Amino acid sequence: MKKIAIIACKMIRGQNLCPGDVRCLVAFNRREGEFERYKENGAQLLGIIDCAGCEGNKTRVIPAMALLKLQLNAFNENLDALHVGTCMMKFCPRRDDLLAAIKEKAGIEVIEGTHTYTPPTIFGK
Ligand code: SF4
Repeated sequence: MKKIAIIACKMIRGQNLCPGDVRCLVAFNRREGEFERYKENGAQLLGIIDCAGCEGNKTRVIPAMALLKLQLNAFNENLDALHVGTCMMKFCPRRDDLLAAIKEKAGIEVIEGTHTYTPPTIFGK
């Protein structure tokens, strides 16, 4: 059983452009998208944090991860893997820098992506 968390885009979450983190949560519960890998042995989703914003770029995501770790410590929990949200993977202009910083500091597996529910077009059929 893997224990995981998600890092998402603060701009998208903070402006309520992804209400309730529903896409990631549905995908996790259904074991779809990048969560399909947990179908056989299971997983627990212990938290969703955001990148801490565009200002400061990768310097803010690291303390955000450290705070998550502190919070998990309080419950004697730790992570086996971190998923970088589909919002960040698809829309962040700083994605490459952020990914590199996250991978360098995480010390656990970093998986690129979460759900696959982004529609190819907004109004097209
Ligand atoms: S740095 Fe990227 S992932 Fe973070 S809030 Fe800005 S656009 Fe979103």
